[in-house]
Amino acid sequence: MHNESSLWNRSKLQLKQSAKRLSLDPFLTKILLEMDRVIEVSLPLKMDDGSTKIFTGYRIQHNNIRGPYKGGLRYHSQVSMDEIEALAFWMTMKNAVIDVPLGGAKGGIQVDPKKLSEKELKKLTEIFIQKLIGVIGPYSDIPAPDVNTNPKIMGWILDEFKVQNAKLKNKYKEGELKAVVTGKPIEKGGSEGRTEATGLGGSYVLKEIMKNLKKDPGNITVAVAGFGNVGKYVAQFLQKMGFKIVALSDSKGGIYIESGIPDIKRIQKCKEEKGLVNGCYCIGSVCDLNNKKRLGGVDILVNDIWELPVDVLVPAALENVITKKNAPKIKAKIILEMANGPTTKEADEILEKRGVLVVPDILANTGGVLVSYFEWYQNLHREKWSKDKVIKSLQEKMENAVDNVFAFKDKYKVSLREGAYMLALSRIEKAWKKEN
Ligand code: NAD
Repeated sequence: MHNESSLWNRSKLQLKQSAKRLSLDPFLTKILLEMDRVIEVSLPLKMDDGSTKIFTGYRIQHNNIRGPYKGGLRYHSQVSMDEIEALAFWMTMKNAVIDVPLGGAKGGIQVDPKKLSEKELKKLTEIFIQKLIGVIGPYSDIPAPDVNTNPKIMGWILDEFKVQNAKLKNKYKEGELKAVVTGKPIEKGGSEGRTEATGLGGSYVLKEIMKNLKKDPGNITVAVAGFGNVGKYVAQFLQKMGFKIVALSDSKGGIYIESGIPDIKRIQKCKEEKGLVNGCYCIGSVCDLNNKKRLGGVDILVNDIWELPVDVLVPAALENVITKKNAPKIKAKIILEMANGPTTKEADEILEKRGVLVVPDILANTGGVLVSYFEWYQNLHREKWSKDKVIKSLQEKMENAVDNVFAFKDKYKVSLREGAYMLALSRIEKAWKKEN
């Protein structure tokens, strides 16, 4: 029986279905149904108080037919193999959808970073990198930030990689060394525009879809579930493009204002100050509950957001949130999957039957890895792009990806998700045939 919550099982079913429709070489399908390499390392750490603890680290490389393995590292107490395998596989698909010469990987450490001091976290990261020497490298496997990892940690990774390579007398040039990891601080070779890239990329995707559907963003209402790195930027940029953002939420609840939330940037400040979106009814610089009535605002619970009367729903937090339970009640006509894997397979089928256009994660949230690719490219070519150039290149690549996915959808009369998978698989097959 198919387990609705297993992300990797769901991905395998999707992969088999799209491969069959495309008449993909069965040998290639078999290759893609497996991980190329699964690495598990033990990480013994001396704690500040003199005690010792053993942590476990993973790096899972799914496939490198189109280029070096690429994908984030997450530090989380519940990092699971199933989740990392699905995420590694999706990286292979995403990089093919946006047409960058990279493969897919993912990894992480089973740890709650909030329980470690900065010194312990830095040491743990260094031990992890020591164990991954020979695995990661500028031409082999390039990590990036993910859940609970950030530019500072990427900087530590670069520093440790340099130390270890000097010991091994490896002859990487300075730019090549920098290219071992992306999402670095700008002063260590990071790219302009990386922080907001996923949210901005997703908003270009929706804008391009509106253009294809000949719809004016000014008449489109949007609800965004999740207000972290992805949610806050996608909401901000969609508003800037003219969409009407009417609802926002985080893990503690949210707000709904039918006439439109006036200023997303102000809500970001309010959330930073209060720690939650709930109650952020802002007029000018003042955000409080007194404004709620004036704005016609309504408090919402975490799960209320799915059933709001809006045109577009943007899941931007967790996986498996749109399920067979809430899918029949969704009123939106478009779902923009900014989170990874937010829609279960059962929900997907219900939504398709109901004519809801689901813009798949492997298209919608690729802006981050795209700018990671730009960073890697700049490092290797000793270039430094302006923010304008990064954003222009991001927009161009995202719009092309949308148009190419739509072309597959129309040619094969399939869903957008299937169109995206078929586009990715056809590109991977082309590269594979060149090699074989
Ligand atoms: P984050 O940790 O910065 O933010 C997550 C947000 O979700 C927080 O605001 C949190 O309060 C909220 N949240 C948690 N549970 C919720 C719930 N039940 N309902 C509503 N909101 C809830 O994470 P992020 O970097 O913004 O990532 C969000 C999603 O996007 C994840 O699925 C991630 O894998 C995916 N993603 C992120 C990037 C990136 O560049 N950061 C790129 C691609 C995909």
